[in-house]
Amino acid sequence: MQYRNFPMVPRVIFGRGSFNQIQEILTPKRVNTKAPFIFLVDEVFQDNPWLIDRIPLRFLDQIIFVSAEEEPKTSQVDALVEELKSRFTQNPSGIIGIGGGTLLDMAKAVAIMLTNEGSAADYQGWDLVSNEAVYHVGIPTISGTGAEVSRTTVLTGPEKKLGINSDFTPFDQVMLDPELTRGLPQNQWFYTGMDCYIHCIESLTGTYLNAFSQSYGEKALELCRNVFLEKNVRDEDSEDKLMMASWHGGMSIAYSQVGVAHAMSYGLSYLLGTKHGIGNCIVFNHLEEFYPQGVSEFKKMVRKHDIEIPTGICKDLTDKEFDKMIDIALMLVPLWENALGKNWQEIITREKLKNMYKKM
Ligand code: NAD
Ligand code: ZN
Repeated sequence: MQYRNFPMVPRVIFGRGSFNQIQEILTPKRVNTKAPFIFLVDEVFQDNPWLIDRIPLRFLDQIIFVSAEEEPKTSQVDALVEELKSRFTQNPSGIIGIGGGTLLDMAKAVAIMLTNEGSAADYQGWDLVSNEAVYHVGIPTISGTGAEVSRTTVLTGPEKKLGINSDFTPFDQVMLDPELTRGLPQNQWFYTGMDCYIHCIESLTGTYLNAFSQSYGEKALELCRNVFLEKNVRDEDSEDKLMMASWHGGMSIAYSQVGVAHAMSYGLSYLLGTKHGIGNCIVFNHLEEFYPQGVSEFKKMVRKHDIEIPTGICKDLTDKEFDKMIDIALMLVPLWENALGKNWQEIITREKLKNMYKKM
């Protein structure tokens, strides 16, 4: 047995208002006055002085607002890297991503591509990156994806939706300030929160499960249940707990894998641009066969929070479009193997997947 030796985020700060300590964290990391800190910030905060005014800008430091309307693309990463290379004579001292999974992934990818040749698309896969990334910091403003702790940055490229999975991907520093998630619209809070819940279910029922993953997965699941089922209000306590659930859920899948919902949701995202959180919910809603208990509990949460899960999004697709989604989903072999074991191909045929997609 050859065991994987994974890096972890080496530094993390947690606490309400901890974002105020950003300057003291960044200052020692400044290379020189010509190497700026670049803050990639979700556009949703553009007119939000409560957050923006606390970003400490000195020398050539810049805030670049990025839309999270669409999930990050390799072309978008390449364009940002090009822009930074042309604007500054030196590589930045650091890239700081502030936002949800979209912005966190952008920050990781830009930090990697500043020190590696070519296009981000060349590095989609496992362990293709050879040079250490620029110092990068993740500051989540939604909880659930686990992108703050993971070893991947998920990008849509010309041919595939796949992460840059590498030892250089994880953040050098994460700032967990649950206060930053306040004001999140209810639906988005739920969809991204459910990403975490689904990570737990897929990890805990998977064939790759081991004590490492289980210990994190069980804690994350307990926190999700508390936030989405037991509590009747969305308060500070639930913001704190959901942020830690996301962290533990991400740690759980680091040493195992996700499963059917994620594989199928990647297909939806590639073809229809369906975003990760809502896409997972749309798929998971139809997965009783694979996750009976998880889906039944998920439906309870949907009812409790009065959330609408879209249906019928695949009803007008052509055969060619179904084929493309199925290709994308089937590419994710480790996810299927984790969900269903080595002989997964006996259970999951193209026909079966098509019938499942047709219901969504
Ligand atoms: P997101 O970053 O796409 O944001 C969703 C919406 O919420 C956007 O409209 C955004 O502007 C808004 N938003 C963010 N913070 C807000 C706040 N505090 N207040 C109000 N609005 C706010 O959402 P997400 O679900 O966190 O991320 C999805 C992305 O994460 C996908 O691209 C997916 O591929 C990626 N992902 C990555 C990993 C990983 O390990 N790298 C894991 C899971 C998902
Ligand atoms: Zn996910």
